[in-house]
Amino acid sequence: MSTASKPQTIWSHCNGCGQETKHEIVHKASRRRSFDDDQYSSVEVGSEWTIVQCCGCEEVSMRRVDWCSEDDYQGDLNPPTFFPARVSRRKPVWLTREHAPSTYVGMLDEVYATLHADSRRLAMMGARAIIDVVITRTVGDQGSFSKGLDELKNKDLISKRDRDIIEAAVNAGSAAMHRGHQPTADDVNVVIDIVERMVHAEILEAKAKELAATTPP
Ligand SMILES: [Zn+2]
Repeated sequence: MSTASKPQTIWSHCNGCGQETKHEIVHKASRRRSFDDDQYSSVEVGSEWTIVQCCGCEEVSMRRVDWCSEDDYQGDLNPPTFFPARVSRRKPVWLTREHAPSTYVGMLDEVYATLHADSRRLAMMGARAIIDVVITRTVGDQGSFSKGLDELKNKDLISKRDRDIIEAAVNAGSAAMHRGHQPTADDVNVVIDIVERMVHAEILEAKAKELAATTPP
């Protein structure tokens, strides 16, 4: 009979697979500290770290659960925090493959992490900020979003239909920021689709120029 123990597994969201998958527990560590509250009792706080590896794509991540002896958990402990943060929308392959400018990669990463936490207002604000960066990088600061979009359209960088959709996205971002509007998950996904398309178009344009410059006449 084999003496090797069966690896412990848990179900957890995997960023690589884009869904909940079975993960093997690779390592566990914990920390516990006591603080004297007063003469009669002491408070204990602790953290449990678990390093897990997806049984499908083999991506490794770490989850941390913090606890305090004074908390009333009613069965469940505090929700775990993941490193790196879990994302529910998969990052497009071109974002890393085509060496996207780091500004876009960083901002989009944050938007995807925000989506996973279902923080739709923050995701919308992030999307609006990315559109602002696209405008500034491609046609320069035009003083307002609307003028920036006009300039993108004048330079044939976007179509009239694109402009209308983007304007709707910007309005949704503004409503999220100033009027507490809670966008639906569908609204947010449409906006992120548009943002990804704008960023990809900019990257492809740079690639096309590179290709033209290196192709012998
Ligand atoms: Zn996976």
